[in-house]
Amino acid sequence: MSLTNCKFSSTPKQLMASTFSDQQLQSYLDESLTSDTMAAIEQKLRTDEGLRGRLVHLAGMREAGVHGLGEIWRRSRLSCPSREQLGSYLLGAIDPDLGAYIKFHVETVGCRLCQANLEDLQRQRTEQQQATQTRRRRYFQTSAGYLSQHRSN
Ligand SMILES: [Zn+2]
Repeated sequence: MSLTNCKFSSTPKQLMASTFSDQQLQSYLDESLTSDTMAAIEQKLRTDEGLRGRLVHLAGMREAGVHGLGEIWRRSRLSCPSREQLGSYLLGAIDPDLGAYIKFHVETVGCRLCQANLEDLQRQRTEQQQATQTRRRRYFQTSAGYLSQHRSN
């Protein structure tokens, strides 16, 4: 065994681990981890419901009665899903893991930005549907008017 191997043992192997320690999650909430580790935890949070629960629990223990969960979340800056992802979520055409994450992000955490985005997307969809209906109705009325005019002649 050569001592030169030692320098490699200090690389953060836990980045690849399937679980993170409470200590790491605490540091995550403090944003005191390296950006690599922050990203790794965020990635894991997207698919790991257990980890999300632990993070919320830890955040709740620390900040109980002081800050709302939404504020903690905004401060910890868990990345928001993209507008495309929110659109797919609205249509129910999304990967189940990501869908569960967005539901958690929007409903449990109550991210106002994403809530506003979802409302906006929903309104756009409704407006588009109404526009289509109006166009169809107009077309029908024009046709009907044309026909009745012809009939009265
Ligand atoms: Zn968000």
